[in-house]
Amino acid sequence: MRFDGRFAPSPTGPLHLGSLRTALVAWLFARWRGAAFRLRVEDLDPQRSRTALEREQLSDLAALRLDWDGPVMRQSQRLGAYDAALARLRAQDRVYECFCTRAEIREAASAPHGDLPEGAYPGTCRALSESERRRRIADGQTFALRVRAGAERIAFVDELLGPRSGIVDDFVVRRTDGIHAYQLAVVVDDAAQRIGEVVRGADLADSTPRQILLARLLGLPVPVYAHVALVLGPDGARLAKRHGAPALAHRGEDPERVLARLAHSLGLARDRASIATPGELLAEFAPERLPAQAVTIH
Ligand code: GLU
Repeated sequence: MRFDGRFAPSPTGPLHLGSLRTALVAWLFARWRGAAFRLRVEDLDPQRSRTALEREQLSDLAALRLDWDGPVMRQSQRLGAYDAALARLRAQDRVYECFCTRAEIREAASAPHGDLPEGAYPGTCRALSESERRRRIADGQTFALRVRAGAERIAFVDELLGPRSGIVDDFVVRRTDGIHAYQLAVVVDDAAQRIGEVVRGADLADSTPRQILLARLLGLPVPVYAHVALVLGPDGARLAKRHGAPALAHRGEDPERVLARLAHSLGLARDRASIATPGELLAEFAPERLPAQAVTIH
């Protein structure tokens, strides 16, 4: 079994300390296992993605000396692979057109629906007849594509969070604007990059059952998962772009100091002395040493 790892930022904002910390943990996991570390730019959404931000993100990672193997994968160049995956789902009758508007979805999702979690899509368009579907398409109604998930409960054992499970609703695999959904792209790409271990922020733990289901339907290997506890801002809320984090490159901070702060927050460095390279942390690294709770970085 190989445990190649990856970091997959969206170039929609600078990498704040929380993202850099996740990148460091992902790098440590991969290198500690003697595995490759891949990089993927999740620039699926052309409206929100910026090449300048991508450049800054890569340069921040390089400044921290988080090195990666092989070429950077860009999702904007992989639309054919996502279409092929959709065709495969369609051949199994596992996708359907959803004509619901946002308001209709909100309204439908607010009512309880059997086992489905709150906010789940209840499957309004799942049972549309073939003729109704054709009529709406011929009328020019726009539609998203959803996967027919069958309200299955999917369980997995997270390496950091322990056993988790979730019931999967009929989630979107291609958006109304024609853009492939993150949930689809991430599964196709992790398989294409032969990722054995997905290390990422704990905010994505709840997406994992969906991704495992998709991997199974597509006949792709399911990686193991390690979701890293988040970083909180001074207001106790999850660190986000609104906490105003300019790219490292513009912060005028010494990357070695930043690395030391991140290492300290991970319980991997006893003092704040600067750490020159992430490799210096490998001797101290062990997944069970990572803090299980969200932390505030000082
Ligand atoms: N692109 C996602 C983000 O920046 C991460 C996706 C993943 O790691 O699966 O939040």
